[in-house]
Amino acid sequence: MKYIEPHAHMVSRVTDDYLRMATAGCQAVCEPAFWAGFDRGSVQGFHDYFSQLTEHEPKRAAKFGLPHFSWLCINPKESEDVKLAEEVLSIIPEFLDRPNVLGIGEIGLNKNSRNEDKVLEMHVDLAARRQQRIPVQTSHMEVKLKGTRLILDVLKSDQSIKPARVIIDHVEEHTVQLVLDAGMWAGMTLYPESKCSPPRAIDIIEVYGSERIWMNSACDWGISDPLAVPKTALEMRKRHYTTEAIEKLIFQNPQAFLGQCPKFKLVET
Ligand SMILES: [Zn+2]
Repeated sequence: MKYIEPHAHMVSRVTDDYLRMATAGCQAVCEPAFWAGFDRGSVQGFHDYFSQLTEHEPKRAAKFGLPHFSWLCINPKESEDVKLAEEVLSIIPEFLDRPNVLGIGEIGLNKNSRNEDKVLEMHVDLAARRQQRIPVQTSHMEVKLKGTRLILDVLKSDQSIKPARVIIDHVEEHTVQLVLDAGMWAGMTLYPESKCSPPRAIDIIEVYGSERIWMNSACDWGISDPLAVPKTALEMRKRHYTTEAIEKLIFQNPQAFLGQCPKFKLVET
């Protein structure tokens, strides 16, 4: 089995997890910027984090033959401080040309507050200005249906954002159709205990199909499983999916979305 892990917060994982992922058939790891489990106090904290995502984490992944890619942003949880968000946004451009940076993300809303909305618009504006090579990765919200509608409104209102370059992660049964109807990609984030479990994710694709959909493990600082994608593939086998159908969902689909950025390359075999 081969697969791509398109959304994993590896800075919160031990090195053994890279070994386990590579052993399970992982071909590439993508890491959107996110909350670190605590609020960072200054722009310097984000500068260090972006350096970690663009310099240090790729080296750690490379030890296991895994290409590592990232998206950069300030996440919604820390976006209540608009002044800090403005400072963080001002340093992002200096990292965008680095070889493993695919774009802006994961942006979105958490509690749907006015400040979060403002910072979301600032990120979309930055992505639009650098549109040539920027897929946008959005996700994580507590008020999901309302938040999804708000995010879609912000993205659709900017004519320079191409829907096919946007993936809305963390979709569930009640939001997936909204995202697909907008022409965007939908991501299902697999969690071992809560939210979208592997059987539930497969139920979703059985209802909504597997076009413009990917699965990811998130594997952040919370309870999560870096092998959630290959474990879901095993669950698909139990339901008698063909090898081709499984590979389309866990390898070809993420490759198609990520490949929109010419910097995304797999190791030649
Ligand atoms: Zn995430």
